[in-house]
Amino acid sequence: MNRQTRIAVVGAGLGGMTVAGFLQRAGFAVTIYEQAPAFSRIGAGIILSANVMKVLRRLGIEQMIVDTGIKPDSYISRAWDTGETMYEIEFDAASEQRFGGPYLNIHRGDLHAVLEKGVAPGSIAFNHRLVALDETRDAIRLVFDNDAKVDADIVIGADGINSKVREYLLGPEPPRYIGAVAHRAIFPTEVLRGYKIPDCTKWWGPDRHLLAYFMTSKRDEVYVIGVVPRPQWNSDAASRPGSREELIADFANFHPDLLRVLEVTTDVSVWPIYDRERHDRWSGGRIVLLGDACHPMRPYMAGGGAMAIEDGAILSRCLAQFDDTAEAYRWYEATRVDRVGDVQRISIENSWMRGPTDTDWFYCYDPCVVELKPEPKESGQ
Ligand SMILES: Cc1cc2nc3c(=O)[nH]c(=O)nc-3n(C[C@H](O)[C@H](O)[C@H](O)COP(=O)(O)OP(=O)(O)OC[C@H]3O[C@@H](n4cnc5c(N)ncnc54)[C@H](O)[C@@H]3O)c2cc1C
Repeated sequence: MNRQTRIAVVGAGLGGMTVAGFLQRAGFAVTIYEQAPAFSRIGAGIILSANVMKVLRRLGIEQMIVDTGIKPDSYISRAWDTGETMYEIEFDAASEQRFGGPYLNIHRGDLHAVLEKGVAPGSIAFNHRLVALDETRDAIRLVFDNDAKVDADIVIGADGINSKVREYLLGPEPPRYIGAVAHRAIFPTEVLRGYKIPDCTKWWGPDRHLLAYFMTSKRDEVYVIGVVPRPQWNSDAASRPGSREELIADFANFHPDLLRVLEVTTDVSVWPIYDRERHDRWSGGRIVLLGDACHPMRPYMAGGGAMAIEDGAILSRCLAQFDDTAEAYRWYEATRVDRVGDVQRISIENSWMRGPTDTDWFYCYDPCVVELKPEPKESGQ
């Protein structure tokens, strides 16, 4: 594609930063428009598997992420009542060799600070909340809440689960509340007063689960996310304050090893969980979607951010390779929809690493080199 093509990325999340970084490296002038005034260190962790780390390596930021987060020794699945180990995967030099990269846990705020280094300095326009799009024959106009107006040739909607770009492309449709909330808490390890916990454990109950992991190689900060059923969420707010008592009450019957951890949690907040039904139309005209803007999923496989980052890598390759925008978008969709659909399905089942699991297809995947798939031919052609 002509390197003079004006590309606007809406949203400086995981997917937006990835696609912008790669397109800039391919010689395109790209601006990222972000509604927030700056990146903040919101209280949550994130798991980045080898398929993601390979992408971040190409953006030159893998080592910074490794230095900031932690490569856990292993991931352990345990039964809520007996504490029995249902599955364990060890992460070491041999697994890194096999998967082509490490498995990494990190604070989201720390991740974002590093991601910012993967894009050209000054290419993020903060305080720009997209409110409207207007497509004409020659360009597409982006209108922001600060009254700024920008013309572009291509708009990449990387604006998350409540995507304005998606709304323009597919019409308004609120995301689906899945009937569950996540308690989230971060606390310093010292409050455990010497009580030792593994690097990363998922506790599996009949209708709820809880994940606890360190976020730094010093093992001085613990992240806990516990998902429980809640039929209703009657608020537009992204979260509400929670409490240690509410968290413990929701996991009261769980194994003492877990309760020992929950007893020291502080700063608990409660987040409703949303997703959308699978929908395989990700583009139209000058617009293309990636990440949660087109396929938000339940956070049960640590796959949503990974899919956004993989999307960014593949979309940038398609835009760099094909002259025609529509053709680039079709190859991008053809390459991505099946894999993303599998991750969506497994996230709904909540079955990932519950018991013996084939992880190679997920972790060994490298979106920077995987063969791009041609658009499906119409039958009869
Ligand atoms: C509780 C929970 C735990 C999770 N844990 C993991 C995990 O461990 N591993 C993993 O891979 N995934 C995880 N996920 C999923 C992951 O967080 C998302 O899939 C990922 O953040 C999607 O990235 P994105 O770039 O598409 O969107 P986002 O990260 O949501 O970024 C969207 C960006 O767009 C901006 N924006 C929105 N609207 C506008 C607008 N109108 N104008 C301008 N800017 C706008 C937002 O401010 C934001 O910066 C988890 C999700 C949840 C809810």
